[in-house]
Amino acid sequence: MNTMYFTEEHQLFRQSLQDFLKKEVVPHIDKWEKTGTIERFIWKKFGDMGFFGLNYPEQYGGLNLDLFYTVIFLEELQKINSGGFAAAMWAHAYLAMTHVNKEGNHEIKEKYLTPSITGDKIGCLCITEPFGGSDVAGMRTTAEKKGDTYVLNGSKTFITNGIYSDYLVVAAKTNPDAGHHGMSIFILDRDTKGVSATKLDKLGWRASDTGEIAFDNVVVPANQLMGEEGKGFPYIMQHFALERLIMGINAHARAEFALEYALQYMSERTAFGKTIDKFQALRHKVADFYTEMEICKEFNYSVAYRLNKGEYVVKEATMSKLQSTKMADEVIYGCLQFLGGYGYMEDYPLARLLRDSRLGPIGGGTSEILREIIAKMVIDKKDYKPAT
Ligand SMILES: Cc1cc2nc3c(=O)[nH]c(=O)nc-3n(C[C@H](O)[C@H](O)[C@H](O)COP(=O)(O)OP(=O)(O)OC[C@H]3O[C@@H](n4cnc5c(N)ncnc54)[C@H](O)[C@@H]3O)c2cc1C
Repeated sequence: MNTMYFTEEHQLFRQSLQDFLKKEVVPHIDKWEKTGTIERFIWKKFGDMGFFGLNYPEQYGGLNLDLFYTVIFLEELQKINSGGFAAAMWAHAYLAMTHVNKEGNHEIKEKYLTPSITGDKIGCLCITEPFGGSDVAGMRTTAEKKGDTYVLNGSKTFITNGIYSDYLVVAAKTNPDAGHHGMSIFILDRDTKGVSATKLDKLGWRASDTGEIAFDNVVVPANQLMGEEGKGFPYIMQHFALERLIMGINAHARAEFALEYALQYMSERTAFGKTIDKFQALRHKVADFYTEMEICKEFNYSVAYRLNKGEYVVKEATMSKLQSTKMADEVIYGCLQFLGGYGYMEDYPLARLLRDSRLGPIGGGTSEILREIIAKMVIDKKDYKPAT
């Protein structure tokens, strides 16, 4: 236990979460990976256990706990080996719900945040478009004001929970001529007329439903605008700090899971009369992998600590995702090699881990974009400020 960040209560929470996942989730994972559909009952069970409310206000049914409960939640979700299941849970709890909590007014929070915490409503966050995801300000979806409504037109793609969620948090241009100053955030129900979704097939994250979503003259009441009109871009950028740290934490956790599994395997598998964990070539690889994973983990914890104190850690969270996802890909690739042919078999966890991990350097800002942000901050001394 890392006592610098985790208390006895944190450890008890980790233990109970592990027990819960083993009993309630693990028996269903292979089925959900095959069908690409996570059954509804488990969302409700997560809600009943309070897992969706860890860091949300008590007023709306949350537990208002420190960020290290979220760290534990994320880490343990990575250790049941379904990046897709984990993504469905954290995209709901931290992508969609973060916007609802931060930008939603009291009515919106009562309508969406409370049932999100109880697991009765599932959310998704729709930013990326078919024409491009990296250039967020270049999005083409529009929301034209008409009386006391907005009319949405456009499309989104690669949206996690994009098919089975109940509500959508959508970024759209309310003033297309104003560049990134003309973007706003809306919340709308799945069954709103003119919203349609198509499920996408993909390399990994197979348990989660990833959707392409079309908005065809979707009429949204003006009170479904979240926060201030025109402030969508800074809201999105601000929440990227949390999202990127989440993806960094996920990465160190899945690398640790891969290493623990590989070490166990290596202690049992023999070649040339000894267990393969006695071969120096492999031992040194393991030593390197553990070192890199632990360095990422420690860094991520320190960023979580600062974020929890309210610091705006945009640079550090960007570095966390950039480095941890690179490390995880390398470690998992290497661990698959430790298993030889079994690493390639679906009956062993490394094949799925490798597929799932590959999204790390792509989703939520590609590594190239992250390097651009870091370069702007360290070379050009650009100072990103939180939205006010
Ligand atoms: C499984 C999955 C789940 C996802 N979930 C969500 C979700 O829930 N919500 C959501 O909104 N989005 C989601 N995404 C979208 C994801 O965030 C985007 O795919 C990502 O931001 C990249 O956008 P793009 O795919 O359009 O790539 P593009 O922007 O087209 O980029 C293509 C390539 O060009 C590179 N590139 C672009 N600009 C530059 C530059 N300036 N300098 C150097 N290289 C550059 C990129 O790094 C990349 O390698 C998801 C994606 C996937 C695959």
